[in-house]
Amino acid sequence: MRVTSLLFVGLWSVSSWAQASLPARVNAARINDHLSRLSEFGKNPQGGVSRVAYTEADLQGRSYAIGLMKEAGLDVRIDAAGNIVGSRAGGDPQLKPLLIGSHIDSVPEGGNYDGDVGSLSAIEVAQVLRENQVTLRHPLQVIIFQNEEGGTIGSRALGVGLDEQHLNLNSQSGKTIREGTQIVGGNLVQLASAQRQPGSIAGYFELHIEQGGSLEREKIDIGVVEGIVGILHSDVTVEGFANHAGTTPMDQRRDALLTAARFIEKVNLIVTGIPGRQVGTVGWIRVAPGAYNVIPGKVVLGLELRDLDERKFTGLFESIRAEAERLGQLNQTHFSFTDPVITHPALTDKGFQKLVDESAKSLGLRTKLMPSGAGHDAQEIARLGPVGMIFIPSIGGISHSPKEFSRPQDIENGANVLLETVLAFDKRQ
Ligand SMILES: [Zn+2]
Repeated sequence: MRVTSLLFVGLWSVSSWAQASLPARVNAARINDHLSRLSEFGKNPQGGVSRVAYTEADLQGRSYAIGLMKEAGLDVRIDAAGNIVGSRAGGDPQLKPLLIGSHIDSVPEGGNYDGDVGSLSAIEVAQVLRENQVTLRHPLQVIIFQNEEGGTIGSRALGVGLDEQHLNLNSQSGKTIREGTQIVGGNLVQLASAQRQPGSIAGYFELHIEQGGSLEREKIDIGVVEGIVGILHSDVTVEGFANHAGTTPMDQRRDALLTAARFIEKVNLIVTGIPGRQVGTVGWIRVAPGAYNVIPGKVVLGLELRDLDERKFTGLFESIRAEAERLGQLNQTHFSFTDPVITHPALTDKGFQKLVDESAKSLGLRTKLMPSGAGHDAQEIARLGPVGMIFIPSIGGISHSPKEFSRPQDIENGANVLLETVLAFDKRQ
């Protein structure tokens, strides 16, 4: 650390002309050092961390991050929703702030990369700007959102706002969101002040690990995220007739589970039957009465569909319903579906996609356009203004696990793309 800062003091004298001769680059050793230091808070003996929001480990991680933000010259405050906001003044007072950031809370027994890479890289961007004495035209805000893993709570507070229902929810820590928000320094009386108006930001960029395996598999350095997929959930009930499994002949059964099995296979065939990257899953099932010697009379199962295009998954849902109707008649069973609960897709901005793509290519990196199958803070911030996301490879596609890993080189690449993108955005008229 000390050696590094001496090095920068040495470069200081040339920084007046260095400003004109950017490209600046991130300090990869420093980011990876920060990552390993952050990993100490909530460290598990089997590897990885349990830095669940509102726990002692979360508070320690946050205070570590606040220290780094201050070192990077950011003016740090906790907003009313408990998010850490580090601000850096811009050169043009007319311009709205550009936001960058992510989260540092983890799932129980999670890894050291989900959220951490994006948060520490955003701080690094601010540090590099400071060291190169670059004043952006836009004010810059580095934000570490609270409790992303518990339902994008902090970023939701900025976007749509938190209502009573959310505040009363129990979080993984055992505390309610209301209690937790206070624990991390939020102010419930002023909570509404954390919410921002649509159009109040210039944009938001988030660097994140892919949490899937496609970048590594295809040997691509950077994923340019097209958007965060929308999700449809519906509970499906299949009703047959529960009867004696020993005395009811095979041709006289109304077996709800057998019909459900055929249905599950059809869901897979329908989802894979059209081109595209949509996914569909039956993720849980309950059988009643649930005994060796009784033909299942009733089955309830959980259907989930995801895609970037809402029309696509609602269309698939209709096809699945029609198929269920047919299956029900064929098997003398009856299907019913609960009204679908839909989380709308959040698309990234086309111009931001281009900025990320060009920034990566200017660094000699290979890119591909891809959806995010997992949720992120960016989906909430998309309500306020244009957003962009940068993915780096997750080795083996493993995430939410102590085995989660991204290579130091990929982290460096991602952070440099974030830096380049911020600079390119700021230059854009
Ligand atoms: Zn995350």
